[in-house]
Amino acid sequence: LSLGHQPPTYYKKKHYTFGKMLGSGTFGEVYQASRIKDQLSVAVKVIRKSLLNGDPTLVYKEIQVMQDIHHENIVELYDWFESRNSFYLVFSLATGGELFERISQLGRFSEQDAVQVMRTVFEAVAYLHSCNIVHRDLKPENLLYKDKSPGSPLVIADFGIAKTMRNEEDVLTTVCGSYGYVAPEIMRRRGYGKPVDLWSLGIITFTVLCGYSPYYYCEDSQQMLAAMERHDVIFDKRYWWGVSEGAKDFIRGLLHPDPTRRPTIAEALAHPWLRGDTALDNDLL
Ligand code: ADP
Ligand code: MG
Repeated sequence: LSLGHQPPTYYKKKHYTFGKMLGSGTFGEVYQASRIKDQLSVAVKVIRKSLLNGDPTLVYKEIQVMQDIHHENIVELYDWFESRNSFYLVFSLATGGELFERISQLGRFSEQDAVQVMRTVFEAVAYLHSCNIVHRDLKPENLLYKDKSPGSPLVIADFGIAKTMRNEEDVLTTVCGSYGYVAPEIMRRRGYGKPVDLWSLGIITFTVLCGYSPYYYCEDSQQMLAAMERHDVIFDKRYWWGVSEGAKDFIRGLLHPDPTRRPTIAEALAHPWLRGDTALDNDLL
């Protein structure tokens, strides 16, 4: 699968029957579909060319980076094609909905459930970082449950702004990401790298454990940046009583404003809390 001059691919659209809409995003919608030859259920991301301002580079980059990624906790790109109006990216289907929805439903997770669900995400990010890929848009809307069961694992989706680093020393500069999840060094327009994903994972872990985001009280991005740089992680007792010190220590480490002092993904995986050694069974809180 290579890019460049492509023969027409629009005939491939006939290989699928399209069903309900699963979600929508920046450049179009994602639909459930069925591959006619074997009835395989898939998710097709439809990216409308009219929204790309004549520049398909973003789509090609997403395809290119996905082609090299194969991991059981990351959506798999099966195929892609284009018509006159749209690009179509065919992914493995996750049927369990977004982590975002389950946080909204449950309010918060017990520590043990949080460890179970976050551990697979950290492992998948370790895989990405070992491939020198930075995701840059980790957030609960882009983490999907594989199926509807309570114990379902998560898969990482949305490589729309992921970046392959040229080497370990490569410094990225593009300002991108999602408000509330983006690391301070990106907002400061400093060069950055893999540590930005650990920051986002810190925000997600915080949110999973209490149901709100750590800097929700800030009125604008300047205030938020200042709080982030003070390393002012507030564990409000009304919501955090009974949560272990191990969990807080883990989160505080990931939310260090200095990226060089944030744990690497390997260090995060070795933290006692994420290993499950210290997480409390506080299901009844
Ligand atoms: P965008 O870059 O526009 O945010 P995403 O790739 O995040 O696009 O897809 C938008 C939404 O569509 C996701 O948040 C999710 O709800 C749904 N979605 C995306 N990929 C899949 C998939 N493989 N299986 C099920 N739902 C998906
Ligand atoms: Mg998305």
